[in-house]
Amino acid sequence: MIVKHHTCDKCQSKNIVKNGKNRSGTQTYKCKDCGGYGVLDSKQPGRTVDKEALAKAYRERQSQRATGRIFNVSHFFVQTVLKKSP
Ligand SMILES: [Zn+2]
Repeated sequence: MIVKHHTCDKCQSKNIVKNGKNRSGTQTYKCKDCGGYGVLDSKQPGRTVDKEALAKAYRERQSQRATGRIFNVSHFFVQTVLKKSP
């Protein structure tokens, strides 16, 4: 089992406690050291698809749907990436 150690964004302390969830349902914490409040996993990236690789894969005579399956995204997303890429 992987134990995730959350730290305070402000003082990097690990001495934090869960503090319920905010309006958008994101887990928040309260830091016991600096008294600050924050959101856990606030640095979590959104979509981490390599758009360059996706466009490249499409040019290898893949269909948009096939490319989407490879990258685990919808073919609409593939279309969006292709429109934006030169
Ligand atoms: Zn803190």
